[in-house]
Amino acid sequence: MGIDQIAKRRIDTLFSLAREFYPKDKILSKRYVSLARKIAMRHRLSLGSKSFCKKCNTIFIPGTTLKVRVSPSKTAVLYTCNICKTAAKFPYSKEKRAKKGKKA
Ligand SMILES: [Zn+2]
Repeated sequence: MGIDQIAKRRIDTLFSLAREFYPKDKILSKRYVSLARKIAMRHRLSLGSKSFCKKCNTIFIPGTTLKVRVSPSKTAVLYTCNICKTAAKFPYSKEKRAKKGKKA
């Protein structure tokens, strides 16, 4: 097993721990996310930004720490952190176009 696979496995474990501990201990949960991010950085792995808040390291739990809305211009999906109110924008026009192309 490669070292990157070990890193990936550790990141997965840390994320599930962060999710599990969020209701009990928010500080510990944030610590797990920051550890996962450090491991990802060292091994140059991409974590995406849909599973945690980049600003405050809070794990995203839909309905609890995460609010998902369509942007007012309707060209993107907004992932808003309920803790620090930071919004991440994910444009979906590209995906939409790809789907349309498949149907036609
Ligand atoms: Zn946040």
